[in-house]
Amino acid sequence: MSVFRLVMHPASEGDALTLSWGEEGKLFHALIDLGRTRDYKTLRPTLKQTGQFELFTISHIDADHIAGAMPLVKESSAPFQPRDVWFNAWHHLKNAAARLERAEELESLSAKQGEKLSVGIVRFRWPWNSAFGSNGIASIASPQGQHPIDLAGNLKVTLVSPGDEELAALEPVWMKELELANLRPLDPDDQDEQPDKESGELEVLSRVNVEALAKKPFVEDAAEPNGSSIAFLAEFGGRRVLLGADAHPGVIERRLRKLGYSETNRLKLHLFKLCHHGSKANTSPTLLKIIDCVNFAISTDGTKHDHPDGETIARILVNDPSRHKTLYFNTHQKHATVWNKDDLKEKYKYSCEIPPKDEPGLTIDIRNL
Ligand SMILES: [Zn+2]
Repeated sequence: MSVFRLVMHPASEGDALTLSWGEEGKLFHALIDLGRTRDYKTLRPTLKQTGQFELFTISHIDADHIAGAMPLVKESSAPFQPRDVWFNAWHHLKNAAARLERAEELESLSAKQGEKLSVGIVRFRWPWNSAFGSNGIASIASPQGQHPIDLAGNLKVTLVSPGDEELAALEPVWMKELELANLRPLDPDDQDEQPDKESGELEVLSRVNVEALAKKPFVEDAAEPNGSSIAFLAEFGGRRVLLGADAHPGVIERRLRKLGYSETNRLKLHLFKLCHHGSKANTSPTLLKIIDCVNFAISTDGTKHDHPDGETIARILVNDPSRHKTLYFNTHQKHATVWNKDDLKEKYKYSCEIPPKDEPGLTIDIRNL
């Protein structure tokens, strides 16, 4: 029997995802981000047992996606083997900027600018952006990034973010962002374990007008690290999932339009792992108009940024009023449970999948969607 599933592991306010496909007994796997340090420690036995990944992506340098890779790269030997690692480091950003200016000079990895993950990839001798050629940039502007990439076991991957512009935009702020994420070679990297401060009280949404929330003006995310996110479509056995990382919706929308999708030729998605944990700045009404999707997955424990934002859920519900929709959350948290109300679910035709309290993590069987 064929298998196509996404596991949203506990990842604090971030992402740690595994995608598996193939036949029962002969499965292939991809690993997307590693959450924070404590999340990697929880996930490590599972990764070690899996052993081999066709693809390991670190979508971008924000701590809720990359900090889990810090204890990994300190290990004497890697607990798992990836066939390719997709990660854009400083020299890739420089090369994206050079390509935009049509400059010839290509940068290679420099120790000074190398952050901890780059050092680890080199030390483990892992293949790095090898799908994108030598000195390859994981970018939709790379020749290889413009077409679907075939992974073993018949998974077709189509990159939808970033472009060279988004990578070049991160370059001037790279060192500052590394510092924020404790990723510079000399930064301590076990400092992300402080308990989060309690977030503010949530409005009682059953008394809030969902239509009004949905109509709030959309202001797109402008954070450079998020814009540099590696996001992609993955297709297997006639099913298609969009793994949005923390990408900017405008980047994804422009890419999908370039691929021929529009309001009258919508992209069929069986599952959309929402960008940036359901932030109100990363799911635009115009992106929702060019996809045909009723299943939305959200990875966050709701700490630090109170994700998902009500505006995002409201926009999803109002966008498609007639069909039944399902919201998948990887953590039992108040910004998820606030939507698990019978009156709301009945009125806006949706259901919620939320794991039990203290048992974060959710498996989604994409084959049956
Ligand atoms: Zn994030």
